[in-house]
Amino acid sequence: MKVKECAYCGKTDSKLTREHVIPKNLYPKSKAESKVQRLTIPSCEECNNGWSDDEAHFRNVLVFAGDSNESVREIWNSTMRRSFDEVDGSRRVNDLFHQLVPTKVDGKGRHMIYPGNDDRVLRIVRKIVRGLSYHHDLTSPVCENQVFADVQKYIVPPELEEIMEYHHRDSDIFEYKFAVLNQVGIDSAWLLTFFQRRTFLAAVFNS
Ligand SMILES: [Zn+2]
Repeated sequence: MKVKECAYCGKTDSKLTREHVIPKNLYPKSKAESKVQRLTIPSCEECNNGWSDDEAHFRNVLVFAGDSNESVREIWNSTMRRSFDEVDGSRRVNDLFHQLVPTKVDGKGRHMIYPGNDDRVLRIVRKIVRGLSYHHDLTSPVCENQVFADVQKYIVPPELEEIMEYHHRDSDIFEYKFAVLNQVGIDSAWLLTFFQRRTFLAAVFNS
C-alpha cells in the first residue's frame, strides 16, 4: 500500500486532499452519472491550489479547437457559455482569443488555435501525466519539469505504439496510452487524446 503522500510533490506531513487527475470540467452534465472513473489522487493543499484557472482555459481551448462531438457541444452549450457570463468571463474570452493565430487555409484567411504554443494548456497536460504516473504506480512523485508535453505533430514510431497500453475514461472525452520505457533517461511515454480529436505526446524523464 502507498504511504499517504502528495502525488505531485511527495510531501507527507501536510494535510492531504483529493485532486482530480483529469480536470472534471471536461465532463459534461450527461456524464455526471457515468460509471467511468473520475480518478482522484492525494494532493497537498499547496499543490492543489492554482490549477482551476488554467484548467478552465485548457477546456476552453480544447472545446474551441477543431470539430466537435456530442460532448463538446454539450459543454459549449452549458458550462462554457455560462462561464463567459461570469464576472471574469470577458477575461476568459480574451485569454482564448489571444490564442487565435491568423493563417491561410486553401488560400482563405482563417484563425486557428495552436494548443502546443500555449503553456497554460501544456501545463495541464503535464499535470495529467504526473497524476496518471502516480495512479499507475510508475515514477512518483513526478515534478513539473520532469515532463515534456506537446501537441502530437509527428507519427509515433510503430514499435513504440505497439507496446503502449491503452486506457480510456469515456473515450469521447479522454483516452490515453502509455508505455514504460526505462531507457535513455525516459521513464514513460504517453499519448493523450481529448474529445477524439486533439492528441498530445508526453514523456516523463527520470530526473
Ligand atoms: Zn504537494
